[in-house]
Amino acid sequence: MAERTFASRVVADARARARANAPAVLPIYQAAGWVFRSLDEVDAVYEGRLPGTIYGGSGVPNHEALEALICSLHGTEAAVVTTSGAAAVAVALLHHAEAGARVVAARDLYGNTSRLLGDLLKFGVQTEAVDFIDLDILDSTLKLPQRLFVVETISNPRVRVADLHAIAEFAHKRDALLVVDNTLATPYHCRPAQLGADIVIESLTKFMGGHHDLVLGCVTGSRALVEPMRMLASRFGLISAVLETWLAVRSIATLDVRLARSSANALLVAQWLAQQKKVTSAHYPGLQSDTSHAAALRTLGSGFGSVVSFEIAPDRAAVDRMLAALDQIKLVLTFGGVATTLSHPATSSHRSLTPEQRADLGIHDGFLRLSVGIEDPADIIADLERGLAAA
Ligand code: PLP
Repeated sequence: MAERTFASRVVADARARARANAPAVLPIYQAAGWVFRSLDEVDAVYEGRLPGTIYGGSGVPNHEALEALICSLHGTEAAVVTTSGAAAVAVALLHHAEAGARVVAARDLYGNTSRLLGDLLKFGVQTEAVDFIDLDILDSTLKLPQRLFVVETISNPRVRVADLHAIAEFAHKRDALLVVDNTLATPYHCRPAQLGADIVIESLTKFMGGHHDLVLGCVTGSRALVEPMRMLASRFGLISAVLETWLAVRSIATLDVRLARSSANALLVAQWLAQQKKVTSAHYPGLQSDTSHAAALRTLGSGFGSVVSFEIAPDRAAVDRMLAALDQIKLVLTFGGVATTLSHPATSSHRSLTPEQRADLGIHDGFLRLSVGIEDPADIIADLERGLAAA
């Protein structure tokens, strides 16, 4: 081999070399550029005849690994992993945003999703916000034709459960597609595609990630629906970063044990909260008295999720006293980690709504969302008892 100069060696000797034995976990492919040996090879990779990577921005083997894992858990054909849950929602909605299209969305949605649907009005997409509780009533009031139905399996923050099987039938009868945000349920509790949903969205930032250390989302469904959305995500620069993607695969390996524990804890905590004098209302689909219990029995499995919402007097100062008195439970404006955390939707996840919209949803200053973790449930309850005493 010809003697190379220093300027060439710093580049050439930094290249990857093949090793004889393989690592036990998929390494992080932190590579934007990939080498091709011929133009025929470029064509073959683009056309899917040869497995390969085109460019870091359109996904590397770490994306393939996470997407295959998501498909396996949801029983779907294809998935695309995006920079965040919000990006996943945007991809699914933008792909169907066409002037004149009508969307029917649950009134009860994560605040930014409601806002995004409002933004789409600029492109001529009209959204009707409805309650999916009585489909017969809905049948007589909805304006035709509809393009998309949008619901959350377990809504944020009121933890209302959508009867996905019934809503999917309802949407399909109208030739509309059902988009389900399954963030609070995860495939551990619900696989919406198996109940008839066409497109499933998740924020992997929450329970799937599980450790408050990554921001990521995904869209999954049939290959025919997901592949055009992958192209759109790629054009908009919304494909996830490699490290986050790798971290999510590591996290999902413990999803089953984490959620078995946290959802069992959530039921105990909800039962306890429902009996407290200062708690005017406790919301959890696992409570037999909950308005969503019947829908939850049809839609969820392996428990009822790990988010419990509850209401105390609508008094900001009382909430602040409670937060100050809590020892282990911290105010954190996301959810789904292994530690129990509390959030205040009116000032965070639903801050972008108007006061009237929040009032309509019952999200007042005393409405709290608890993400129950995997600690000893007695310690979680003892901490809440301390907090409530100070409220
Ligand atoms: N969907 C739901 C139901 C959420 O609660 C959230 C965030 O709280 C999102 C989507 C957005 O996810 P991300 O924070 O990963 O953008």
